[in-house]
Amino acid sequence: MIRISEKTFCNRCRCKTNHSVLENDGIALEYIQKHSATNICTHFIVKCDGCDTISFLREVKYINNDNEQKVIYQLHPDPLQRMDDLELPKLTNIPNTVSYILTEVYVAYIQQMYLLCSIGLRITVEAICDEKAINGKNLADKIDNLRASSIISDSQSNILQKIRMIGNRAAHEISALDQELLREGIQIINNILYSIFEIEKIKFE
Ligand SMILES: [Zn+2]
Repeated sequence: MIRISEKTFCNRCRCKTNHSVLENDGIALEYIQKHSATNICTHFIVKCDGCDTISFLREVKYINNDNEQKVIYQLHPDPLQRMDDLELPKLTNIPNTVSYILTEVYVAYIQQMYLLCSIGLRITVEAICDEKAINGKNLADKIDNLRASSIISDSQSNILQKIRMIGNRAAHEISALDQELLREGIQIINNILYSIFEIEKIKFE
């Protein structure tokens, strides 16, 4: 199996790793475009040697003005786009404490610290209850009281209870959610924060 000569970015590992070109019946999955003798563009289907994630990689070889051979690699999907695809929401009225925790949750997610991210989501729920001065003997109770105070709906309450349980499991059983579920959890929390803290500030007149 051909290995790409230098380490290239892996969207899952979020760092530069070794990649190998996939093969079909012993033939490398590559497509070579020779624009000139010195300007060669090769498209590969590659697999990260660390995590097995498959990507498209374009290798561009060219001669620069100083007559030096140069090689650049372009990955698809583009790593920067992937980093941006979960944006922090533009919530301007959420309390500082909640905003601070949410930023840490986001950073943990981007850094693939999924255990901390799971626990952080639960802490965000705690912070929402504290900001709304909701009491209760434990977090489950507080979420029920958030709903009883009409701050959240029944369906939002069910989701917050699930996020609470995910955080508990992460903390006690050292088990984190997978990336896609955490991503969904962050988006749900953002929507709930919007409905709790933003809507009441909107002047619709
Ligand atoms: Zn990888």
